[in-house]
Amino acid sequence: MSAETNDNQSSGTRHPALLLIGWDGATPELLERYLAAGKLPAVQKLIDRGSYRPLRSTIPPVTATAWPSFLSGKNAGKHGLFDFVTPGKDGEYQFDYTNGGHRRDRNDDICALLNRAGLAVGCVNVPMTYPPKAIDGFMISGLDAPDERSGIAHPAELFERVQQKVGSYRIDNRHLGNMKTDDDRRGAIAEFKRVESLRTDITLAMIDEQPVDALIIIYNATDQVQHHFWHLQDPTHPQCPGVESAEYQAFEDAIEQIYIHCDLELARLMEAFPEADVMIMSDHGAGPTCGPQVRLNNALAQAGLLTWANTQGGLKSKLASTADSFLRRTLSAKQKAALVRLIPGGRSAIESMSLPAVDWSKTTAFVYEGFTLSPCVWLNRKSLFAQGTVEDGSAYDDACEQVISALTGLKDPKTGEQVIPKAYRSRDIYKGDLVAMAPDLILDWWEGNTFTMGKSHPKHDSESPVYWPEGPAVPGRDITGIHRRNGVLIAGGPHISLAQGEKEQADLIDVVPTALAMLGLTPPDDVDGKVLSDIISGRIEAGQTQDIAPSDEGDDQENREYTDEEKQAIEARLSGLGYL
Ligand SMILES: [Zn+2]
Repeated sequence: MSAETNDNQSSGTRHPALLLIGWDGATPELLERYLAAGKLPAVQKLIDRGSYRPLRSTIPPVTATAWPSFLSGKNAGKHGLFDFVTPGKDGEYQFDYTNGGHRRDRNDDICALLNRAGLAVGCVNVPMTYPPKAIDGFMISGLDAPDERSGIAHPAELFERVQQKVGSYRIDNRHLGNMKTDDDRRGAIAEFKRVESLRTDITLAMIDEQPVDALIIIYNATDQVQHHFWHLQDPTHPQCPGVESAEYQAFEDAIEQIYIHCDLELARLMEAFPEADVMIMSDHGAGPTCGPQVRLNNALAQAGLLTWANTQGGLKSKLASTADSFLRRTLSAKQKAALVRLIPGGRSAIESMSLPAVDWSKTTAFVYEGFTLSPCVWLNRKSLFAQGTVEDGSAYDDACEQVISALTGLKDPKTGEQVIPKAYRSRDIYKGDLVAMAPDLILDWWEGNTFTMGKSHPKHDSESPVYWPEGPAVPGRDITGIHRRNGVLIAGGPHISLAQGEKEQADLIDVVPTALAMLGLTPPDDVDGKVLSDIISGRIEAGQTQDIAPSDEGDDQENREYTDEEKQAIEARLSGLGYL
């Protein structure tokens, strides 16, 4: 719909009637603990007017997959974002970073659907929405944007004007990779709060000038603080320095402080829009990194499913470590920030890009260990890779079985327990046109004791691929909190039912269909999520005059890689160093 139609409504009286507020990574265990202690009064107020329940995330429960599934109510087989990385188009075993441009469903996400129903939307900091779309309303992209200066908002002029008034917008906290002292850590916590308050400030100022009917806003400090501070509030964490330690005592409440701060931001939004219905959701939960590390490519090599290229050996590894320090020296702070921001643990991931060479002609399956939070296995498919060895059909199924048996058979040398409880076949868990672009096996690292990915090398082939990290966590380098599948869903407001009795099992993909239904709109047929009818007590009158009109745009994949010079500089260096 046109901006002209919009102007027919008086901007002075038009407020968002529905707020969808994301707390990235907010987890039931901590939320319930802080609620019980009376620390989250705004959340409590919503629950008192509605309901709270766990919210099951996607498989895998990672930001890059989960928020796109939220936005469209669809599984990843339809939106195409399975991870922060995806194989390049040339089949040459190189991986590109994903961003919103890779999403195939941008013409059918909640912003597009509401626009087609005549409603304006504000969409702030949702991961995987870069580059921003020219929606009716406004959009500020999330963590897949290279930096604040790369055209992250629409309308750009409005965003510029608002920043002149309110202050410079920050996508997120950049000070996490460098937390060496207690002062650094205190600075990081203060920065979390500053960045999130500024997000609310800018959003409210945008709405003042560009009224919207619905607002979607994601706060991500919750996720980041959990990744970096979990071991300082959990005495059972293997890397906890001890409850008596000065570090523990100084930062025991770091995560709590951030939840409390997000509660204050929530209170500001509820005060600004007291009539609005509100849903708060997280894209996944969190818990301790409590298991061992696994060198997955070494495990595959030991099972005869991967063959190292037999060249250079020690010299190569010496070169790789020189390359690591060269990379650290030569990437500018800005480039490092752009990379490190993409995933927690980004810094160590960059260092692990020095993958030793693999003999692809003798390899059945491999793991991209360079830049991924979520361990998954790629079969060396003939249909996808230049030197593929695995045919579709029964050969494919056999190869899957061999990999599953090798990896789920790995035992923790300390406890004798199974390390990887389950490997999901992507063809079983995803449905849609894009399933062939998914990694073949998603390893379950979020149930049970969890595991994290170590860096494989031929020199480790004679050792157990499962091992425990030595020494205490290095702040700012080691991730001590990691995702779990259950996040949270809180709903409250004038059109939301008061919780009573058994609540429906809720999935992240159900939130948008439920939001549409609250607005009196019918979710499109190809949406996978369901309407959580026990949440809805009445229809929100947001002034729309029409059902969702059919889209007149086609498949919206912009196929836009990071085309800016930053990305080119990084790629050139990495290729030059033999990283890719
Ligand atoms: Zn997340």
